[in-house]
Amino acid sequence: MGEVDPPPRKCLYSLMADGPFIAVGGGLAGAAFALELARNGEDVLVLESTAQPKHKVCGEFLSAEVQTLLDYLGLDLKAMGATSVGRFRLAAGNRCAEAPLPFRGAGLSRFRLDQSLLQAAEAAGAEVRRGIAVSSIEPTAGGVTVKTGSRVFRASGAALATGKHNLRAFPRRPSGMVGFKLQLRLQPEALRTLHDVVQILMFDGGYIGACIIEDELVTLCWVMRPALVQRIGPAWHSQAAYFSAQSEMLGDLLAGARPEWDKPIAIAGIPYGYLRRQPIASNIFPLGDQLAVIPSFTGDGMAIAVFSGIAAARAVLAGDSAATFQRRMIRRLRGQFHWAGAVNLLFESTMMHTVSVMGAALLPGAITWIANSTRISGFEEVMAAQGPGRRLL
Ligand SMILES: Cc1cc2nc3c(=O)[nH]c(=O)nc-3n(C[C@H](O)[C@H](O)[C@H](O)COP(=O)(O)OP(=O)(O)OC[C@H]3O[C@@H](n4cnc5c(N)ncnc54)[C@H](O)[C@@H]3O)c2cc1C
Repeated sequence: MGEVDPPPRKCLYSLMADGPFIAVGGGLAGAAFALELARNGEDVLVLESTAQPKHKVCGEFLSAEVQTLLDYLGLDLKAMGATSVGRFRLAAGNRCAEAPLPFRGAGLSRFRLDQSLLQAAEAAGAEVRRGIAVSSIEPTAGGVTVKTGSRVFRASGAALATGKHNLRAFPRRPSGMVGFKLQLRLQPEALRTLHDVVQILMFDGGYIGACIIEDELVTLCWVMRPALVQRIGPAWHSQAAYFSAQSEMLGDLLAGARPEWDKPIAIAGIPYGYLRRQPIASNIFPLGDQLAVIPSFTGDGMAIAVFSGIAAARAVLAGDSAATFQRRMIRRLRGQFHWAGAVNLLFESTMMHTVSVMGAALLPGAITWIANSTRISGFEEVMAAQGPGRRLL
């Protein structure tokens, strides 16, 4: 990773024929990539735009798969305060259906998780620089050039891991949805209703997830049509009033709740269903949300992010091109995306909300089946295929 101007020390890196890589973005995908490379003795630099750890729009529900992957990367989620989740509740209005999850899920804030993973990458030998926003990644003969406002870095390859944020040269087709997140302290009675449960409630214009995370905080994360956001406004008090009008059950949950921040954090234009099929260049690896964006209700985006980071690192170690990595990843994700897209239609159609909940109440096995078919699979390989040069895909 050669920083051309200044300091000169980094010019040495640009002369190296192999090894140095840059992860652009230090979220879950970029950090997993850097950690897996660093602990296999590779030279890797992470450029992360935020100067400090930040909250991210995410339901903070961890599937079994992401827990397995994070354990493989050496993170002890329990020690970090993760809660345990064994049941899924689907609700609309005042109706709800509940079923056991086909695995034990977990709740943990991204604030804590992302910071820990990045620290683990650093401890493994990756260089992490925060407060550096990359503006472009360009392939060059035998390498890549990564530019920020004032600096240029050279490396043998890069990971595009900027998550929800696009670099100008690599756009994704946006969808119409807006995502929000807020952490709250609930009243004890309301908190009890969420013990051991991840809950999704569908409302006219979107859906909202709730999950207990560390320190008995509750993460609320919701997705809304932009027209509805325009109508009710982004302020929490007006959103909460809308939710309470949509569902007494949700109103009860929110009664007396204390938000941890003044206003929810938000992200617009989430490109649900996006799969980056076209390779960018032989040595630019798109990871996480820059590779694939699964509908949020599946709670599997973090697994895809971490898996793609590890798999891309393994591809680098094995000498595979980004195009080969991408082709294999897309093949693996296709089935999961197919089912997630189909179920998403139920979430999008208000007319189907009550029918879906009634169906789920009659056939709780259907919830379990959907939870299984919308997840990334094949995790035995992660455990088995240890060591440099072993492919995951
Ligand atoms: C509403 C919603 C709810 C969700 N709920 C869940 C859930 O409950 N469970 C689950 O598993 N998944 C969930 N997801 C999906 C999950 O949040 C994402 O799939 C996951 O965060 C992707 O990780 P990433 O590393 O690709 O991106 P990110 O986590 O977004 O990380 C990208 C990083 O890149 C940095 N960055 C951005 N631009 C630049 C730049 N130009 N230069 C340098 N750095 C840059 C950012 O600061 C950030 O740290 C949800 C998503 C949404 C939208």
